[in-house]
Amino acid sequence: MLNQLESLSELICDKLELDKDSKCIKPQGKSIISYKELIFYILKYGSTLEISKQLNYSKHTIEYAVRKLPINKDAHASYRLRLLELINFKYCNTCISIKENIEFPNSSYTITGKASNCKECTHNHYKQYYNDNKFIFIANTIRRRSLTNSYISKELVKEVFVRDNFECKKCFISELDHEIQFGTSLHIDHIIPVSKQGTNDINNLQLLCRSCNLSKYNK
Ligand SMILES: [Zn+2]
Ligand SMILES: [Zn+2]
Repeated sequence: MLNQLESLSELICDKLELDKDSKCIKPQGKSIISYKELIFYILKYGSTLEISKQLNYSKHTIEYAVRKLPINKDAHASYRLRLLELINFKYCNTCISIKENIEFPNSSYTITGKASNCKECTHNHYKQYYNDNKFIFIANTIRRRSLTNSYISKELVKEVFVRDNFECKKCFISELDHEIQFGTSLHIDHIIPVSKQGTNDINNLQLLCRSCNLSKYNK
């Protein structure tokens, strides 16, 4: 983690065209921290208050230095987020680590278009949240709705969700976003419909969101 933070700090310095070794905090004319170190501490501790505690300088001193960084001053996001954005990385609050943007699910509910928890954490969250009861519920719903005696067990439901990464296979909306938007789980769709002799084999099943599912049948 520390090595990663160091190399990311250097990348950000390059991106901002800062001389990584030049000092940026000079209380009473005494140089103490370089730009690279300052960025390193922002990535590591997140808030200026925490940095000031860790380094034993006043919050004012740290804030003064941070404000001199050539990044957007009006943005609402934290400094850590804004610095990481420059190099297409993000901070995951759950596993407390910095990962590439692509390791975060898409989300239509954030300014960055990316969810605030990484894919791995989202996945783990669902693994816990989707306990047996949830899967029994989905399996029962499918059973009630089906015209034939098609039977999808909760184990199979679970397998499809995990295999498809809790995302719609067509538009990649996440299960979480789908629940927020439609108030229901993603659908388990028969690729070849049961009415056309499609089976309940896992290879004939996929996760679809409500709109992708509807547009499939409106064709
Ligand atoms: Zn994470
Ligand atoms: Zn979809």
